[in-house]
Amino acid sequence: MRISRMFFKTYKEDPQDAEIKSHKLLVRAGYIKKQTAGVYMFMPLGVRTLHKLCNVIRQEMDRAGACEMQMTSLLPIETYAGRLEHFGKDMFRLTDRSGKDMCLGPSHEEIFTGVMKDAVTSYKQLPLTLYQIQTKFRDEVRPRFGLMRGKEFLMKDAYSFDVDKAGLDKSYNVMAETYKRIFDRLGLHYVIVNADNGTMGGSMSQEFMVKSNIGEDEIIVCDCGYASNTEKAECKFVEVDNSKIERLPMTKMHTPNLKTISDLVVPLNKSEGDMLKAVVYKIDDKDIIVALLPGNREVEEIKLIRATGGINIEMASVEDIAKIGSVAGFVGAVNLHDCKVVADNSVKNMVNFIIGANEADYHYENANLSDIHVDMFADIVKAEEGDTCPICGGTLHSIRGIEVGHIFKQGTHYSELLDCKFLDQNGKSRYMEAGAYGIGVTRTLSALVEQNSDDAGIILPEEIAPYKVNIVIANMKSAEMVEAGERLYNALNNRGVEVLLDDRLDSIGAKLKDAELIGVPYIIVVGKYTAEGKAELINRLTGEKTIALLDDIATMF
Ligand code: ATP
Ligand code: MG
Repeated sequence: MRISRMFFKTYKEDPQDAEIKSHKLLVRAGYIKKQTAGVYMFMPLGVRTLHKLCNVIRQEMDRAGACEMQMTSLLPIETYAGRLEHFGKDMFRLTDRSGKDMCLGPSHEEIFTGVMKDAVTSYKQLPLTLYQIQTKFRDEVRPRFGLMRGKEFLMKDAYSFDVDKAGLDKSYNVMAETYKRIFDRLGLHYVIVNADNGTMGGSMSQEFMVKSNIGEDEIIVCDCGYASNTEKAECKFVEVDNSKIERLPMTKMHTPNLKTISDLVVPLNKSEGDMLKAVVYKIDDKDIIVALLPGNREVEEIKLIRATGGINIEMASVEDIAKIGSVAGFVGAVNLHDCKVVADNSVKNMVNFIIGANEADYHYENANLSDIHVDMFADIVKAEEGDTCPICGGTLHSIRGIEVGHIFKQGTHYSELLDCKFLDQNGKSRYMEAGAYGIGVTRTLSALVEQNSDDAGIILPEEIAPYKVNIVIANMKSAEMVEAGERLYNALNNRGVEVLLDDRLDSIGAKLKDAELIGVPYIIVVGKYTAEGKAELINRLTGEKTIALLDDIATMF
């Protein structure tokens, strides 16, 4: 492709709304262009790379025996009848001219399950894994970071259907291996973490997380190989022998306006860990839960809800707190009513601690377990850097990651919801066992640029770079250079090499800047060595420069 004849537009300045490297570079290099918040158009370089990325995914999915299909984005709203509440405002809804309620698909479990239900009647037709690469729509509250979190984005989603759990295990493992092949092929540095599968009712879920400081997910890892999303990371309870510490009598103290743990630290000359934090929640808009934990820890709400049961969790209101016999800012687990008190396991190790007195401006000091009422002990705190690994007892570390893929066993959840059955070998009607597997394709492109760039621009692996070679003609006024550049361009084209020819009338400086920005792995400068029949070859990744004969360069790729 001749750049002079191409839709080619790069930018010197970073876009104003861009906070991260990949967002800045993808826009500056002219891969993407913002339409509106969270919605991006793909320009020529971007669309080529996107297609290549899709092809890597497609090849590996096909290799795994999955069948590609294409569902629709525009769907009648009743398709999602079972989880409209779950999607809530994240779902884009619209009405057609006849008044029918429609939506733009945020995820396609129901649609694939429906297709299976109609076509598959016998165990002989199973197992099957189906997939598509398709645009998804989610009205994200905070679209940001360019392609990283969009309202419209490309996803590869796959769904496996098996006759039993053993079959599902097999299909799931094949997809896990396929995902590893895909992300390895792309050269991404990633970890596979155990993830929470929320309310899906499945039994297993893993996320593929690209390691990155700008990642939105926090991951807990250990040198032994343990890796978990913080939502699911276990905190191992290590009992401390404090039997020899004298339990002091609990006494009430006046603590005017000292409502938070940090308010109390200095005046009482105590550390945060000496206080018993009480956080009050409302679950499914009815049950009040008081979570107790050491003052220096945070509640992991997903673990709390898993321990107590329920779906939605929110902070309790001042009125809710009054109803259980307490006052916001001074809650303690003494004489509460109409609530369930759930303490973190680590609270068992606490002695002579400080708690709220359920009365404005008062706390108790020297409280002990015998002074408070606990309905249940559970693991409810967020795992942190320095905690003990639940597997090997080593030290846990906290890192950040970008979720590029997610695989999970959904079991018979959607099959039951949509009555998707088959006849087994004994003629008995059974629900299909399903798995769902997603890759955020456009997010993966962002993650790739996060990991493959320098100050000058994007450096993509050959397999997904938009072009392999960029021939830069140093001076378009030199007939000799133009002729040599054209000849090389034709030779490479004839060999089937994906090549750009920078034949614009711009300065060599501007053209080289663009060449470094746009992520093409090899740059050939046809300039001052032309008279000798040579050109300069630059490896964008290593920065290595070599002067070689034009005739040799023509056969190098
Ligand atoms: P997240 O936790 O980041 O919101 P999710 O868990 O809701 O993602 P899934 O439903 O598991 O996402 O979708 C599969 C994949 O699609 C994710 O692993 C992610 O890579 C990608 N993805 C999800 N939401 C977005 C988005 N708004 N923009 C770009 N990619 C996304
Ligand atoms: Mg996910």
